[in-house]
Amino acid sequence: MSLLDILYFPDAQLRRTASPVENVNGDVVTLIDQMLETMYEAPGIGLAATQVNVHQRVVVIDVSEENNTPLTLINPEILQAEGSGEMQEGCLSIPGVYETVKRPAEVKVSAIDREGNPFELDADGLLAVCIQHEIDHLNGKLFVDYLSPLKRNRIRKRLEKWIRDGADPDDLPERP
Ligand code: ZN
Repeated sequence: MSLLDILYFPDAQLRRTASPVENVNGDVVTLIDQMLETMYEAPGIGLAATQVNVHQRVVVIDVSEENNTPLTLINPEILQAEGSGEMQEGCLSIPGVYETVKRPAEVKVSAIDREGNPFELDADGLLAVCIQHEIDHLNGKLFVDYLSPLKRNRIRKRLEKWIRDGADPDDLPERP
């Protein structure tokens, strides 16, 4: 197994729209396993293939306390969204930055699992936020897009400086 490199905002590849997975073959399963390993190592609670520069509609999530409940969503679609909630979000592609984002509080999602079987899932709380955040990635959207242009530009400048300085994970960009 090998860890995958995570792209950082404002990398233009993060703006690409991912293509649906046609066939859940061995390559897709290997991608899922590598994405999970990369997510746990980071550590993070969600990772979209877009973030590792693979432009296919694959998402991995684990919001459990023990990091032992991985969830894979292939070709995820939000069927229904209800309510509204605010939560502080972060992103492995925007390290060190946490901002409050408003989104629907509950979602019903359809997806395909790593065995190739379709399923539906009702989610609320952190899981609902995480699913929406990761599906946004597949559509080239980032959580900073929900912030004001001024705030987003400040975050972009800080990230650009952090990347210029060598992208040291022990010296993350400060919160703007
Ligand atoms: Zn993210």
